[in-house]
Amino acid sequence: MLGVRGEAPGFPLPPRLGHGLAPLQAGLERLYRDCDFAARLATDPVRFPRRYTDPLDQELAGFLAGGFAFGRVDLFGPVLERLCDHMDVAGGPRAFVEGFEAQDLTSFQYRWIKGPALNALFANLRQVLDERGSLGAIAEEAFDGSLASSIEALAEAIDVPGAGRGVHTFASRPSKGSACKRWCMVVRWMVRPDTEGIDLGIWDLPASALVVPLDTHVARIGRLIGLTTRSTNGWRTAQDMTASLAACDADDPVRYDFALAHLGIAGLCVGEKHPVLCPACSLRSVCTVQ
Ligand code: SF4
Repeated sequence: MLGVRGEAPGFPLPPRLGHGLAPLQAGLERLYRDCDFAARLATDPVRFPRRYTDPLDQELAGFLAGGFAFGRVDLFGPVLERLCDHMDVAGGPRAFVEGFEAQDLTSFQYRWIKGPALNALFANLRQVLDERGSLGAIAEEAFDGSLASSIEALAEAIDVPGAGRGVHTFASRPSKGSACKRWCMVVRWMVRPDTEGIDLGIWDLPASALVVPLDTHVARIGRLIGLTTRSTNGWRTAQDMTASLAACDADDPVRYDFALAHLGIAGLCVGEKHPVLCPACSLRSVCTVQ
């Protein structure tokens, strides 16, 4: 599955990899091989779209799970659980959105995403489905070889002018410099095949064009192993890190993302030398703290 070293479509040249490519490939492959995907799924928001089998249920649950996936998972997870249960009473996310009428959604509020924003979001989703059929259709139609084009089109469709921060939170854009972590995560879930029991493979976009979802764990560990030398966490850094990963697997650069993120989420990397964690780490041979 290792790709030929090369530049992935739409990405800049890979950054400097001081330890060389072969050790990085070997370390990432070890990390991927050793990851207990089934156990990690229980703490990952992709478990919400994976509750469903209908593709439209999956993409709507995925969009909501990705949109709420900021802050602490023990805080947004229960909100999503209740929201999915609520939608299931109506027959699932698709039936809920297709028949959506304004209602009291205060019990699904999370941080600054309040009931009125959720009402505006669901009302707009209903219109989007009515006019475009699915979020996947929007992403596929807009794709021009770069994932940015699909994300921009999704954000344009989702945003409701004047609706405020509660809705805009769901509509981050590469053109604003955002790493668009949550969009990149949702699109990864929808595009990558279900090879590890994680992703869903229901949108027709090339996996080679995916961009790594740059969460705090991936950003920190990525810097430790030389995936980027950039210090900010915006879209260009996400592209830069993806280019390094593409040098290891050009066809599927974000294949390593889940294992990288969960190294941090599970507390198996604390970002500095650790007497117990580091000797057991798959990435120790390419980590700069060693
Ligand atoms: S070697 Fe240690 S600091 Fe480096 S990635 Fe692994 S656990 Fe983190």
